[in-house]
Amino acid sequence: MNKPAELSLVAEYGAAVMGTPHIARATLPTPMLSDRVRLQMANTLQTSLMVDEVLRLFTTEARQLVSPFSLRYRNHADSVMYDEGRTYPNRISYDLDLHGSSLGCITLSRSHAFSEDEIALFELMLCTLVYPLRNALMYERAIKSATVDPLTGIQNRTGLRQHLEHQVELCSRHGTPLSVLMVDVDFFKAINDQHGHLAGDHVLVETVRNVVKATRNSDVVFRYGGEEFAVVLSNTGIDGAERLAKRICSGVSGAMVKTGEAPIKVTVSIGVSEWEQGDSMATLLERADHRLYAAKTTGRNRVVSC
Ligand code: GH3
Ligand code: MG
Ligand code: MG
Repeated sequence: MNKPAELSLVAEYGAAVMGTPHIARATLPTPMLSDRVRLQMANTLQTSLMVDEVLRLFTTEARQLVSPFSLRYRNHADSVMYDEGRTYPNRISYDLDLHGSSLGCITLSRSHAFSEDEIALFELMLCTLVYPLRNALMYERAIKSATVDPLTGIQNRTGLRQHLEHQVELCSRHGTPLSVLMVDVDFFKAINDQHGHLAGDHVLVETVRNVVKATRNSDVVFRYGGEEFAVVLSNTGIDGAERLAKRICSGVSGAMVKTGEAPIKVTVSIGVSEWEQGDSMATLLERADHRLYAAKTTGRNRVVSC
């Protein structure tokens, strides 16, 4: 099989690769990658649209043709990292480029040197990998853009649903605590009216930054809609959630948001709920929302948790 013209493989060979070939050229079957094997590999790789799974299938298939090796994949643009085994000093790296767009870098390595024939075989197999990999990357990008809010860069309500459903399932199975905060910017309409929508957008971005700053790595912040945000706190009961909510309240009100004109003071109101036996995602959010309403009606810039 010839390499497609639109695919460019930029290879970098680790120093030790040039050592003594392990398999003599004569021992390799001819042709090295028969149409049948290539078709089987292509069919297998097409069974998934998840990047990790495509790479795992590729490694499994390739290991049947070449003695065991490790695979490392890095794609910084898409924040994808994948490893099958640890990296050894004998390695070959390929920058995969299709139609001028980068598909990331694949490094194959193992404890003993690769022969030239093995390298040639890998390059043929990579030709079979590129289209399934490109499709999986495109699919994952589409999924990501459907769950990310373009203004603030955090996940949207679709992302919240996916995350919270999973968290509710985990805590109903293992009994670990789970809490949710509903956070709403106070008098945001007035901010828009007085300073304009662009300043309003900037306030939303800065508010998210201040909310995220007050949270821990395990907490996930979502844009629920408009000027309302949800924070999911896994492994956290009501007391811890209330403490965190108060920290968010004072963090946001203590940080003036700078705009073209005078800095704007922003405050938020927060409703807190903890998962209880029998709760669904909807009832958990509903309770937090009721408490948020109570925080609004009792003065704003405050936390209500019962
Ligand atoms: P409350 O304290 O009761 O929450 O009052 P509020 O003014 O914050 O709430 P209200 O629901 O009356 O107004 C929310 C406003 O948020 C109305 C809407 O135009 C504005 N808004 C929603 N999304 C965006 C956005 O993405 N950017 C900007 N600039 N404004 C937005
Ligand atoms: Mg509001
Ligand atoms: Mg609101």
